Amino acid sequence: MNMAKEDLVSTPVMKQYREIKSRYPDAILLFRMGDFYETFEEDAKITSRILNITLTKRANGKASKVPLAGFPYHALDSYLHKLLEAGLKVAICEQVEDPKKAKGIVKREVVEVITPGTAITDRFLDTKENNYLVSIYKTQKGVGIAAIDVSTGEFYLTDSDDKSYKDTVSTLKASEIICPESDYKSIEYEFKGKVLRVAEIDDWVYSYEYAERTLKENFKTETLKGFGIEKYKLGISAAGAIIHYLHQNNQKSLEHVVKIQPLLESDYVLIDEFTKRNLEIFRTMQSGEVKGSLIWVVDQTVTASGSRLLKKWLAHPLKNPQRINSRLDKVEYFYNNTDKRENVRNLLKDFSDLERLLSRISANRATAREVYQLRETLKLIPVILKEFEKVDTFKELLSGINIPKELIKILDDAIKDEDLPTGIHEGGFIKEGFNEQLDKYRRVLRDGKNWILELQEKERARLGIPSLKISYNKVFGYYIEVTKTHISKVPENYIRKQTLVNAERFITPELKEYEEMLLNAEEKISEIEYEIFQFLREEILKYVEDILKIADVVSQIDVFSSLAYIAIKNNYTRPVINDSSRIFIKNGRHPVVEALLPSGEKFIPNDLDIDNQTKQILIITGPNMAGKSTYLRQVGLIVLLAQIGSFIPAESAEIGVVDKIFTRVGASDNLAAGESTFLMEMIETANILNNATPKSLILLDEIGRGTSTYDGIAIAWAVTEYLHNNEKIGSKTLFATHYHELTELEKILPRVINLNVAVKEYGDKVIFLRKIIPGACDKSYGVHVAQMAGVPVEVTLRANEILSNISREERVLPTEKDIFQKLDKNPDQLSLFNQIESKIKKELSEIDINSITPLEALNKLNELKKKYGL
Ligand code: ATP
Repeated sequence: MNMAKEDLVSTPVMKQYREIKSRYPDAILLFRMGDFYETFEEDAKITSRILNITLTKRANGKASKVPLAGFPYHALDSYLHKLLEAGLKVAICEQVEDPKKAKGIVKREVVEVITPGTAITDRFLDTKENNYLVSIYKTQKGVGIAAIDVSTGEFYLTDSDDKSYKDTVSTLKASEIICPESDYKSIEYEFKGKVLRVAEIDDWVYSYEYAERTLKENFKTETLKGFGIEKYKLGISAAGAIIHYLHQNNQKSLEHVVKIQPLLESDYVLIDEFTKRNLEIFRTMQSGEVKGSLIWVVDQTVTASGSRLLKKWLAHPLKNPQRINSRLDKVEYFYNNTDKRENVRNLLKDFSDLERLLSRISANRATAREVYQLRETLKLIPVILKEFEKVDTFKELLSGINIPKELIKILDDAIKDEDLPTGIHEGGFIKEGFNEQLDKYRRVLRDGKNWILELQEKERARLGIPSLKISYNKVFGYYIEVTKTHISKVPENYIRKQTLVNAERFITPELKEYEEMLLNAEEKISEIEYEIFQFLREEILKYVEDILKIADVVSQIDVFSSLAYIAIKNNYTRPVINDSSRIFIKNGRHPVVEALLPSGEKFIPNDLDIDNQTKQILIITGPNMAGKSTYLRQVGLIVLLAQIGSFIPAESAEIGVVDKIFTRVGASDNLAAGESTFLMEMIETANILNNATPKSLILLDEIGRGTSTYDGIAIAWAVTEYLHNNEKIGSKTLFATHYHELTELEKILPRVINLNVAVKEYGDKVIFLRKIIPGACDKSYGVHVAQMAGVPVEVTLRANEILSNISREERVLPTEKDIFQKLDKNPDQLSLFNQIESKIKKELSEIDINSITPLEALNKLNELKKKYGL
């Protein structure tokens, strides 16, 4: 029976409830009553709606009007998950004394406060993803950011600025954000729908002095110097607030959070949120699913922490060629050593998630089974390391690993090897021989149980009742049961306790004496085992740093071997990485499109040759559906994979590292993301023009398409000019467009090159060749695509008719002449003319007067006049 309903009528419980609730006004209070967690009043209304459970009201008693909704205690994990998913803060209030021993109402206390960003239960967490709580501190001087994953112990901070902090935060994919009260409104507005919860903290918590002190106390250090974070003054404030918030939420055990690291944005390629979405790195744009994204193809890791690390790398590709090459060396090692790779991957399958285990142990939430898993995983480390003992490539990675042998020994001596219970309060997990006292009580228990068995045999023989049995129940402990048939044989000293239909139950003083001893022994056993467990927990926590280092190395090994595995499976090659300004890809492929092609269909590979000196901007034209977007994204993905240190889907490649990758998709191509307004497109374009550098890679797909054709062309034209002429930018750019007019820019701007996607006309059919070839495309084949899509024949025939009726002249692209005429009228665009002049000058200077024949000279002059429409 639901105890809540029983107790509710009495107001003392409600008084106790209200008193506790007043301390957690912003949390849903789960109030333990017997076997149930109950919620009351407003909380009950919210809970019943989110959990889809019945909202009831008491029909009698003083608390008759109290709305109530509850669920059985064993369902906590799954219900908690739903409450957190809804962005709520949940306070768990337990009965902290044995109800049997309680005088008056049972004592209750909040033992844990959980929010989406602080959860460590496996039910809520996707073990393959990090779960970050992010703290933001906005000031005049910049924005401090700190992020913690309580479930793994990772803790980062940085100082950012007004422009880029949003990208930094969204890269972390936080589930919860905290911020000073005074910024709450603006931050909540900015991140609405992007995180599960935004929580406000008193402003003073973000003061530098308080934050620094809080951090030092947490790390038990005199200074923060050792972490190399002193210069991140605002980040320190944000980080201190995180620790404060966790303490406030009753999370006092942060022993697994042993260090804080700077989040060195400047070390990594900046990929803004839009680009991440558009390149479909973690999810597809359309459905938001993992299937069909880059991670879906490249994540073949075997451990959860390996999977988390790979995601971190993909969100933060490196910029330093040396570091990238060092990763590539390791991938190549596994690529070349099949036996090692398979061996390691097999061994890793038995690895437990050390980071998450440590966080549970630190929070005192671990079970004996988990400690057993930790021990077994630690034992596997030397086996793995043996694989690399003599391999130079891994020397640096493995240096500094310390296997906590003493700890393994203690855990080996203490924790049983099998039949481990799920709880830690009932005992049954410590090995025989580890603790004398424990063994003594266990002997008492064993002997006592034997004594009872013997007593049963003895009494059966003595009284001649073969069916006599001694059993145990919670109500009156051990008892002797005799069936009614033999009831006359029951001796005097048996005390009747209960009468059943067919039998009677008795106790004897002697039996009770033994019972007392047994129960006492059982209690002692659980007590001692729990104490030992706490001792083991402390022992484990002494080695947190060693274990975390091991976890990191193991995750890296998992990622390297997994990248080698997919390189072989999908036929990827090692790119040459350097600091040059060129990106050259031979026969590159789109890793996801090729994986999704129906069997029998082959992905058509394409080259890319782009640099800052001669081929800076590639304008790609081609009919709809030809493969322009695929080509653009494939370039982005290949560069990204290369810079995380992965092999790439290409025959070969030389990649001069990039510092930022930007992609923008014209409004009409981006409908699915719900950002179809032209304004949005322009805001994003502005962002690129303001932030790109000569080392950036820009992928523009149909920019300008969201407005009228002429405005669109004008904007696209001007953007290209700006990217070309502004020295501060000059970024390598791929621009896919339907505006054929833009191909004219090749004639005007020296570093612009036209490319198009080849198609072949075959009768009235168009065959997509998917091959990128030099030159501009002069037809759009729009009507053809309409036909392919099933637009009725009448319509497409009519469209073709209209097309052919429009005079050819009208469809002819503007010539150089037109452009010059326009220039004459508009002196503002004289810069264009200067560029043409310099182009002509360049061509003239390249002519070797001494070797050219008069006829060749005449021909050249003719060619130049034609080319520039003079
Ligand atoms: P639109 O201009 O209409 O946006 P698009 O030129 O950008 O079209 P994509 O969307 O890139 O065309 O490609 C259309 C389809 O063609 C893709 O979904 C893919 O299945 C296929 N495809 C593209 N490139 C290749 C390739 N190199 N090899 C094989 N199939 C390809």
